[in-house]
Amino acid sequence: RAKSRYANAFEIYRPEMRRAKDAEAELVGEMKRGLDRNEFVLQFQPIIAARGGGIRSFEALVRWNHPRRGQLAPAEFIPAAENSGLIFHLGNRVLLDACAAAASWTAPVGVAVNLSPIQFQDGQLAMRVREALEASGLAPHRLDLEVTESLLLDPTPTVIRMIAELRALGVKITMDDFGTGFSSLGNLRRFRFDRLKIDRSFTEELASGEETAEIVRTIVRLAATLRMETVLEGVENERQEVFAKLEGLDEVQGFFYAKPMNGDAVNRLLAERAEGTRPADENAA
Ligand code: C2E
Ligand code: MG
Ligand code: MG
Ligand code: MG
Repeated sequence: RAKSRYANAFEIYRPEMRRAKDAEAELVGEMKRGLDRNEFVLQFQPIIAARGGGIRSFEALVRWNHPRRGQLAPAEFIPAAENSGLIFHLGNRVLLDACAAAASWTAPVGVAVNLSPIQFQDGQLAMRVREALEASGLAPHRLDLEVTESLLLDPTPTVIRMIAELRALGVKITMDDFGTGFSSLGNLRRFRFDRLKIDRSFTEELASGEETAEIVRTIVRLAATLRMETVLEGVENERQEVFAKLEGLDEVQGFFYAKPMNGDAVNRLLAERAEGTRPADENAA
């Protein structure tokens, strides 16, 4: 009986796995064509000074304008890009486009680019970043690379060398989605990036009890000890903003301020902000 049950489960399972593999292979093929046809575009979401409210930088978030399926979010294609190695090509495109966009903005704000841990594995990342800076003319301190905790889970010599070479370029590094992975305090201290971005799940849970608030306070103290800046992501309402200000977070990001927007909207927003600093009578009429 047990045997037949297993055999049965196996038969049901295998075609499903085959279909998932076929679907991923098809997606990868479409992604290759999409890269040639410039179907991948960036949106930008402002990152704001918690006190003062000024725009510090924009995070670049990739989208795929798929010819049949419409605009796809990164969760729908980044995993396949990582599994297939296409992430090197896609990630490089994102770096080039993000640096070029930032260099064209009318205010010298920063740009944050998300990196997959896979991109650290071929030993060419620092060279690619240097090329993107050179091609765009963007000052290195305006580029912020967002990495995830999994990068430091078991850092290989190549990963360690890439981090050192990136720091030598003068770019910033942010630990993204902090608190959701498996960072060791030892590695956090050893690599001492510029920023900790506290994951949206904490922001979401703030309302549900004092425990989450206390954990966020602890992270902020830890960051201060390591002289890292802090960002609270996923801020969707005023209560969360008030918390961020009270607890001394450096920066905030979320739908409460703005959703990710296209490059034209970035320029309009920067222009509006610049106008907002004019004397009031100039804005009237
Ligand atoms: P992330 O780096 O943590 O980016 C923040 C995500 O949260 C974005 O989703 C953003 O649209 C969303 N978000 C921002 N504010 C709010 C808010 O107030 N509420 C809610 N509910 N969501 C908010 P998105 O664009 O779908 O990106 C998802 C993830 O995909 C990113 O998470 C990042 O890990 C990855 N990703 C995005 N672009 C790239 C890329 O160019 N390369 C790589 N390797 N990964 C990328
Ligand atoms: Mg990010
Ligand atoms: Mg994040
Ligand atoms: Mg996140």
